[in-house]
Amino acid sequence: MNAETISQLYRKRFANRSLILVSNREPYIHRKTKTGIKVDTPAGGLTSALDPVMRAIKGTWIAWGSGSADKKVSDEEGKVMVPPDDPLYTLKRVWLDQKEVDGFYYGYANQALWPLCHMLIEKARFHQRHWRRYFEVNRKFADAVIPEIKNKKDIIWIQDYHFTVLPYMLRTRARDLTIAMFWHIPWPPWEIFRVIPQRIEILKGMLGCDLIGFHINRYCQNFLECVENEMGAEIDWDKNTVFYEGRDTRLLPLPISIDFNTFEEMTREATAKTNLPDIRKKLKLEGKYVGIGVDRLDYSKGITERIRAIKLFLKKYPAYHERFTFIQIAVPSRTKIQEYSELKVRIEKMIDEINKEFGTEYWTPIIYYSTNVPHKELVNYYRIADIAIVSSIVDGMNLVAKEYIASQVDEKGVLILSEFVGAVAELNKAIIINPFDVEHFADMIRRGLEMPEEEKKRRMQKMRAYVQTHNIFDWINDNLNAVQKETL
Ligand code: UDP
Repeated sequence: MNAETISQLYRKRFANRSLILVSNREPYIHRKTKTGIKVDTPAGGLTSALDPVMRAIKGTWIAWGSGSADKKVSDEEGKVMVPPDDPLYTLKRVWLDQKEVDGFYYGYANQALWPLCHMLIEKARFHQRHWRRYFEVNRKFADAVIPEIKNKKDIIWIQDYHFTVLPYMLRTRARDLTIAMFWHIPWPPWEIFRVIPQRIEILKGMLGCDLIGFHINRYCQNFLECVENEMGAEIDWDKNTVFYEGRDTRLLPLPISIDFNTFEEMTREATAKTNLPDIRKKLKLEGKYVGIGVDRLDYSKGITERIRAIKLFLKKYPAYHERFTFIQIAVPSRTKIQEYSELKVRIEKMIDEINKEFGTEYWTPIIYYSTNVPHKELVNYYRIADIAIVSSIVDGMNLVAKEYIASQVDEKGVLILSEFVGAVAELNKAIIINPFDVEHFADMIRRGLEMPEEEKKRRMQKMRAYVQTHNIFDWINDNLNAVQKETL
């Protein structure tokens, strides 16, 4: 599937039915700068994955307007056409004040639901005031969605853990609506989920959907287990379906992916513009093995575990001193939350210590960038890297792993992948590690660097063929097929 086929299919199958997508994060952020208004694209899997879909389908994307110049460029309804340099679809912004952002986004979404769904109970904080704001903001989004519905068969597609109560709110206002949701993070087992004080409201809210997509079947099963224990609703375990308040909610495993062709194209374009020796020279990487890690700076990503493994690798294998450099790109994220700002300091300290302990006049073992690198530049790092390390301790899917694969046009790179990411089921030709098993992890870094060329190629070819044929447009097609089946 590609953008063109998906746009034709959509028009054919869903003639006159618009797609209204709802997410917290917006795909384009307008910011005031000294030199005028600048547009940023946020780092994060959700917006990276869905922007190409919306370009193809041309629906309406409703999201929090978080940029300092967002209001300036939007009309009185909060609308602006995007992408800014090639307007294809409508972005409708919802305005939130500071109290709403603190309670809804930093509070309930990111200090309660995010850690809990990543099974890190001790990091979860539940405050009634956060929950109240979260609920109110969900209502505000419901108010933003309703006027966009032009046809009662329009499809509302809600994204992620910021909007658990929105589906039910919409359902009570318009019973015939088609409401689908995609859950981008893990869904925990009931023993963990039951810690949430507002668990009934959350499940009831989500059961307002006709369809809920999760990355893998285990998350569907975990959700059903929670519904069974908390709601007493009727469940069909074979069909992954809940029957509640006279309606069905179907669950589906739909692993999200990337726009493979665009990534590959960007890599080829980048290769035509700058050759690898030049980039290596600029970064003082001539003649060295290169490793890459690209993350939003988050405790779920296993960055500290990765640095520990690199340290042990350098200790155990001194032959790699001055011969191996690791580039860590870690975009600061949710820095208003103490846990995140502390993690940033911890990571920087660890990197500093390694560079002091092992570094020389000619060699920095870990090069660290704490900025958001746009995809067009990111492909340069992916393509020069002999190995990429994705070492999340829990991760719903992880798109960086798939992006690295798409960028390996020479089929040379090796992916080292945590067994705790959703992507592992699909990318089983990677070197699989347990980020907590530091010795094995360190040895696998060496194994990746020393893997015979032929084996590297064989593994990479298999993974590239898989991601190419299971790309973001295949994913959207699967979602739309499911919507069609459920609601026509
Ligand atoms: N990303 C980016 N620039 C950066 C770092 C990350 O564009 O400097 C993007 C990355 O390419 C990927 C997304 O952020 O598309 C991260 O998605 P992933 O699924 O790996 O993790 P998430 O942040 O959604 O938890």
